[in-house]
Amino acid sequence: STIIAALKESGDENRVAITPDVAAKLVHSKFEVMIEQGAGQNAYFSDQAYQDAGAKVVSRDDAVSQANVIATVDLPDSETLGKLHEGQILIGLLKALTDLDSVQKLAKQKVTALSFELLPRTISRAQSMDVLSSQASIAGYKAALVAADKFARYFPMMITAAGTAKPAKVLVLGTGVAGLQAIGTAKRLGAIVSGYDVRPASRGEVESLGAEFLTSSVSAVGEGGYARQLSADEQKQQQDELIGFIKQNDIVITTAQVPGRKPPLLVPQAAVDNAKPGSVFVDLAASDLGGNVAGSKPDQTVITDSGVQLIGAGNLASEMATSASEMFSKNVQAVINDVADKDAQITIDLKDDVMSQLVATDHGEIISERVRKALN
Ligand code: NAD
Repeated sequence: STIIAALKESGDENRVAITPDVAAKLVHSKFEVMIEQGAGQNAYFSDQAYQDAGAKVVSRDDAVSQANVIATVDLPDSETLGKLHEGQILIGLLKALTDLDSVQKLAKQKVTALSFELLPRTISRAQSMDVLSSQASIAGYKAALVAADKFARYFPMMITAAGTAKPAKVLVLGTGVAGLQAIGTAKRLGAIVSGYDVRPASRGEVESLGAEFLTSSVSAVGEGGYARQLSADEQKQQQDELIGFIKQNDIVITTAQVPGRKPPLLVPQAAVDNAKPGSVFVDLAASDLGGNVAGSKPDQTVITDSGVQLIGAGNLASEMATSASEMFSKNVQAVINDVADKDAQITIDLKDDVMSQLVATDHGEIISERVRKALN
């Protein structure tokens, strides 16, 4: 029968691609499930829990050599990639648009690689497979908590015998999946929240959470529900308008991304310089290429001379490994259900509207149009 395996992730990654719950469901659907020893440990799923679910706990070599399908959260290390064999299916956040060397390696080894970054998000059948959304939603929630934790004042209004504390003012820049979750969480903590985006369509979503939508003078709707990149003039105009909005807030959470590009700079140095001491910026887009906030660094907190905290988010979903793995694993299960028949035999139809985009490589070829473009 078809064997599905999950590997232990490397580095600081705490998530696991298959939970015991999903393992049990796959076993029920006639798959054989193999889990690398210790794979669930950092997300609090024990080897015993997998065994109880009907999965086999095995060594990495056994999983890699025997599995028909390997599910991972992140792209496996190059040694592991080198051991994959022809016809094997690899599914995970494989960085197909950004780690082009690895994609080409997977193609050369004739692995069928499904990279969640490529999933079309506006096709409703793909919603249950949408790892970017499930993990962004966790990161947005956690970003609001990180901000509250580092802020030296209350989020809610407090009326006490020792006086009244004003509620914190939180501004969320980029109100997609993560931003909306950050707004909802900050609202639940009692802050006064506003949101800002270059997609006017997100106004309704922001307002339905009880937050104010700050109208952007730049409108930048792109393909597939995403924002497009701004021109240099638009970017300058946006930064100037944001300086005014930012000054009125204590906390700024930024989430703006443009797929496959360096994140836009939304908070210029002047806005950081003008922020009140004790202000907190949480930059979910912080990366080695730069983020949304001038001076932010991934996985680091920078405190400026004027006492402004710039928190570059790292892998926030990994810090909530149990919930994140549960959702990730459901997304993986949805993909498997989509391509398997009732006898647990897998056939991937490359003409299908979802698979034609999700599949990066197959039979030695680069299938994804987006990856091909990135290679040129
Ligand atoms: P994302 O992570 O790429 O970007 C986050 C947000 O930043 C987006 O709202 C984007 O508009 C915004 N942004 C980008 N550049 C900006 C700039 N210069 N200034 C201000 N804001 C900027 O996006 P995401 O959160 O993954 O999703 C974005 C869109 O896709 C949303 O409309 C979402 O509802 C939609 N979506 C749809 C589905 C579905 O239909 N199944 C699934 C997921 C997402």
